[in-house]
Amino acid sequence: MRFDLPQDRIPEYWYNILPDLPEKLPEPIDATGKSFETLKTVLPSNVLNYEFSQERLIRIPDEVLERYLQVGRPTPIIRARRLEEKFNNMIKIYMKMESYTYTGSHKINSAIAHVYYAKMDNAKFVSTETGAGQWGSAVSLAAALFKIKAYVFMVRTSYYAKPYRKYLMMMYGANVNPSPSNLTDFGRQLLTKDPNHPGSLGIAISEAVKYAMDNGGKYVVGSVVNSDIMFKTIAGMEAKVQMEEIGEDPDYIIGVVGGGSNYAALAYPFLGDELRKGEIRRKYIASGSSEVPKMTKGVYKYDFPDTAMILPQLKMYSIGSDFVPPPIYAGGLRYHAVAPTLSLLMNKGIVEARDYTQEETFKWAKLFAETEGYIPAPETAHALPILEEIAEKAKKDKEVKTVLMSFSGHGLLDLGNYADVLGFERIT
Ligand SMILES: *Cc1c(COP(=O)(O)O)cnc(C)c1O
Repeated sequence: MRFDLPQDRIPEYWYNILPDLPEKLPEPIDATGKSFETLKTVLPSNVLNYEFSQERLIRIPDEVLERYLQVGRPTPIIRARRLEEKFNNMIKIYMKMESYTYTGSHKINSAIAHVYYAKMDNAKFVSTETGAGQWGSAVSLAAALFKIKAYVFMVRTSYYAKPYRKYLMMMYGANVNPSPSNLTDFGRQLLTKDPNHPGSLGIAISEAVKYAMDNGGKYVVGSVVNSDIMFKTIAGMEAKVQMEEIGEDPDYIIGVVGGGSNYAALAYPFLGDELRKGEIRRKYIASGSSEVPKMTKGVYKYDFPDTAMILPQLKMYSIGSDFVPPPIYAGGLRYHAVAPTLSLLMNKGIVEARDYTQEETFKWAKLFAETEGYIPAPETAHALPILEEIAEKAKKDKEVKTVLMSFSGHGLLDLGNYADVLGFERIT
């Protein structure tokens, strides 16, 4: 069952949770004395302003709304009836399908806004890092829509192992470089030491920031920070209208956390209402990967968002910026920390956390494909085990519950990863 919101009814505001948080968000710390200056130079000025804004609702610029409509917004909500049957109809499952956008995930929602504000600053180009390529492809598309060049620094191992998202970025006209690259001093140094350096997200961030700083470009941040989450709340703002029309009020809002942006973007507009009323009835549960267990084993502390320690330290649940994740296939979940706002809410017990292994989630992904006919991204599949937990509780309590889930992306470019883990025959 599919619930659409017509294009002429797309919400015109982003939601900013900062004024509604139960306490003030801990301030960033400039440990090196240089990071605030760096941010002022490389971030679009409006992005930096929104990072600390206390305005609750922010009008979405018409230029941004127009691109949202172009790339497939509003996205539908799907009721997963066949999957509900698997749980003996003890839960009603509604999914906000961010996978229906052109690049196949929620990431385009903020990419469009960041690139728009970079363009407003007359940036020569935008630069960013990407691991598996989801964020890089969103930025590449956004840059194409605003007719500005994108430089993407893609972790070298992914550049060679996952060529399809690289091709996607190239279709949008982006300049894609394996990182370490020879576009920056830092990259060149690393390549001199080891011409086959595998790279890392931390290195790619450093290169993207440096390249923007030295060449008149602007750097775009893909998750974690307040402004990025705010830009992505278009998903939650749409979902609120849709759920009202459906006539359901979710008892649970669930999703997966890489940096926390897709989950926060769906949950915050709902949670904000409850925070302002001072009464929280819904349950908020977010999950990550046991292989990168920041959700359940992270420590709430000040840590660097990047490995190279260029950016200010933020207070967040982290397993350490020097944590080297195992090569898991849910590339979007490899990040070492949780967004500061989401971390604060976890610390207050308002958002509950889970971690699941790749093996169990991939089995759920296959079940989902067989029942609902749709292929979830490996990241997205990490939320499916939460459904089972909720269904079991509902059965014990003999009470049907309504769940709203962030369906962050599709897995059509990740079939090779599913084949590896589920043991399909590979043709090489
Ligand atoms: C990037 C990504 C995530 C995780 O990132 P968040 O910032 O936590 O949203 C989840 N799902 C998909 C499909 C992704 O591409």
